[in-house]
Amino acid sequence: MQKPYIVAIDGPAGAGKSTLAKRLAKALNIAYNDTGAMYRACALYAIESGISPKVDSEELRKLLKTAEIDFRTVSEEQKIFLNGADVSLKIREPHISTGASDISAIPYVRDLLVTMQRNMATGKSVLMDGRDIGTNVFPNADVKIYLTAAVEERAKRRFEELREKGDSSTYETVLAEMISRDENDKNRAYAPLKQAEDAELIDTTNLNLEESFDALYQYTLKKLQTK
Ligand code: C5P
Repeated sequence: MQKPYIVAIDGPAGAGKSTLAKRLAKALNIAYNDTGAMYRACALYAIESGISPKVDSEELRKLLKTAEIDFRTVSEEQKIFLNGADVSLKIREPHISTGASDISAIPYVRDLLVTMQRNMATGKSVLMDGRDIGTNVFPNADVKIYLTAAVEERAKRRFEELREKGDSSTYETVLAEMISRDENDKNRAYAPLKQAEDAELIDTTNLNLEESFDALYQYTLKKLQTK
């Protein structure tokens, strides 16, 4: 049996990361961990408790100490639970995206979640996607991929996804939100979004889903064979 291994996929919002990562984990038959969902769950918890996700306050720290976050498979779909409640849908609302981006700039929050993420991978193979997996959470990951696409294309994809869900945000609003989130993620002082030196860059601007998946899958298999 192969030794446990880590696949790290990083990149900005809307590059197709979670769809592709989920599918790749399934093809490899390993666990999948969407770390963005964890930042979103923390933001949701803070906002619903009336605590600002922007400020590193005593009350925020105290609140997050009581956050129990876990992933569970329900009807073959991965769901995220916060203190026993399924929050998978709620965390996708646009104001939670902004809250997640805010809360993720707080070093205390990042340290808390990074520890959880490392624990979740103990003794098993895992594919994790996020912003700092290859640079910070698992700098020795066996496979590192940096997935990106032009911001207009990413906004277009997110806009269509939201529209299908019945959300009435305009393309312009989605684009502005994405540009602002990119800025926040790339410019924060602590563990910013950036491509690890040894990560493979895959740009999906001109690739459809199948072509993108193929690029990810082939690169991963090649890397795992040379391990
Ligand atoms: O991936 P997703 O868009 O769901 O992530 C939501 C937010 O969480 C991102 O905008 C980013 O600020 C933050 N995040 C992070 N580090 C990760 C994953 C997500 O800072 N590993």
